[in-house]
Amino acid sequence: LSENSWFGARLVVNAAEAGSRVALVFEDRSWTYAELDLAIRRTLARLADRGVRRGDRVVMRGEARPEALVTMFAVTRMGAVLVPVHPQMTGRELVVIREETAPRAVVADPGFLEGLSLGTSLGLTWDELNSGDPESYEQPSYEAGSPVAEPPAGSDAAIIAFTSGTSGRPKGAVLTHDNLYWSMVNGMARLPVDEDDTVLVATPLAHVAVLGGLPQYTWARGGTVVLAPRFEPDLFVDLVRDHGATAAFAVPAMLSLLARHPRFGTPGTHSLRWVLAGGAPALSSTTTGLLDRGVKVVNSYGLTESSAGVTYAALDEVADRPTSAGRPVPHVELLVVDEKGEEAPVDHVGEIRLRGPSVAASYWTRDGLRPATDPEGWFHSGDRGRCDAQGRLDVVGRAKELIITGGENVDPAEVENALADLPGVLEIAVGGCPDPVWGELVTAFVVASAPEPVLDDIREHLEGRLARHKWPRRLRVVPALPRGATGKLQRRALTELAGDRPADRPQVD
Ligand code: ATP
Repeated sequence: LSENSWFGARLVVNAAEAGSRVALVFEDRSWTYAELDLAIRRTLARLADRGVRRGDRVVMRGEARPEALVTMFAVTRMGAVLVPVHPQMTGRELVVIREETAPRAVVADPGFLEGLSLGTSLGLTWDELNSGDPESYEQPSYEAGSPVAEPPAGSDAAIIAFTSGTSGRPKGAVLTHDNLYWSMVNGMARLPVDEDDTVLVATPLAHVAVLGGLPQYTWARGGTVVLAPRFEPDLFVDLVRDHGATAAFAVPAMLSLLARHPRFGTPGTHSLRWVLAGGAPALSSTTTGLLDRGVKVVNSYGLTESSAGVTYAALDEVADRPTSAGRPVPHVELLVVDEKGEEAPVDHVGEIRLRGPSVAASYWTRDGLRPATDPEGWFHSGDRGRCDAQGRLDVVGRAKELIITGGENVDPAEVENALADLPGVLEIAVGGCPDPVWGELVTAFVVASAPEPVLDDIREHLEGRLARHKWPRRLRVVPALPRGATGKLQRRALTELAGDRPADRPQVD
């Protein structure tokens, strides 16, 4: 395997050295490393039979099912390029992705394929992929004349990961085998996972947290991944208990639901040592609430373009700094840059920039690759953060999400955090709604329990905690917040929720 740059190569090593260990559990089935390797080869053989070749793009609907994981490894192992899409993606987004990537094949369940206009792409179902002859792809079998004549190179694209598009047209970050390999090295350096760990994953597979994140580190170490078919608090708690899960990944929206679950935490889920959180700001009330119940949240910062986490909080610092995203991983440089483009001093907010071998260098477009970094190799995240004297990062929000009200900047995440523990608030989002006087008006959108909070409660709660210009001037109680496939808040949709009701124009003091 020495010449094999395939990012999943450790799986094969584990299959050879410890093939009888359990690699994957899904519902009432499990796969050892040897069985997983066999399933990958079977799918690879089938893909090759159907004409998929190195460099071809293969769109895969990223449902949480074992076949999708197998397909991810099979496609990338043959040097083809996986384009995972979220199961909830709409027609328009799919059209954009098809236009940009011109896939050779689309892999999904039959029901989904039926409704899709495939153009010249092949439609392949999970069952069909599962029926290849694994012997036709013995390892190593990169001999001349075989459909898979060469292993992928480190600089080859492995995955085109489309950002979930919270800020506009989805962009396809090109994650190479090297990017994913270094993401694995970085994650393994910071997260205490080993072969005895059982890791629960309940996020859609198209998310970079799965593609380049914790499950990959777990397999590289020879541990077990339990895949949940969907996220539901009850199911999550049951899976932790039934499989003795020792670690898990959850986005903050999932954590806030788990924090309210009566059986989540000691003693019901005592096997769980920590939960990795990322992809959105963690609320301090959730993190400390879970800590009181014996669950440590490891907060991390990362994005699609960085192939998963680039900072991780330390387990022993969670109590003191519940929302800190922790320190950068060993092979990523992280810089906070002020408005003048210079490195910001300690504790000063600026834009987070990243550089390193796990960070994507380009976006895929139908007209070729477009650089994702500046000429010096820095990726400009558009996120705002600050580092303390110990090098720990606090993400304060996104530049493009800043609310500008009466000329003052307000970070919605800061206001959300300050209001998360207000009685009656089940979920909260803060957005800027257009206003002829103030430019934007800080508006709180709340999913509430009875009795519902009113604007005066908010003001009372924030007195002495937040500067007055950051206080919401408007409150909307809504049945649900607009969220994407991974539970991420879709801020663009918030203003639509506000409606345009001039009678609500508030008195601003
Ligand atoms: P788009 O880039 O199109 O807006 P997206 O937000 O879904 O889509 P992702 O790559 O899925 O893109 O998410 C990365 C973003 O999530 C980061 O840029 C950051 O804003 C946010 N994020 C990730 N981790 C954290 C964290 N620990 N704290 C706060 N925000 C975070």
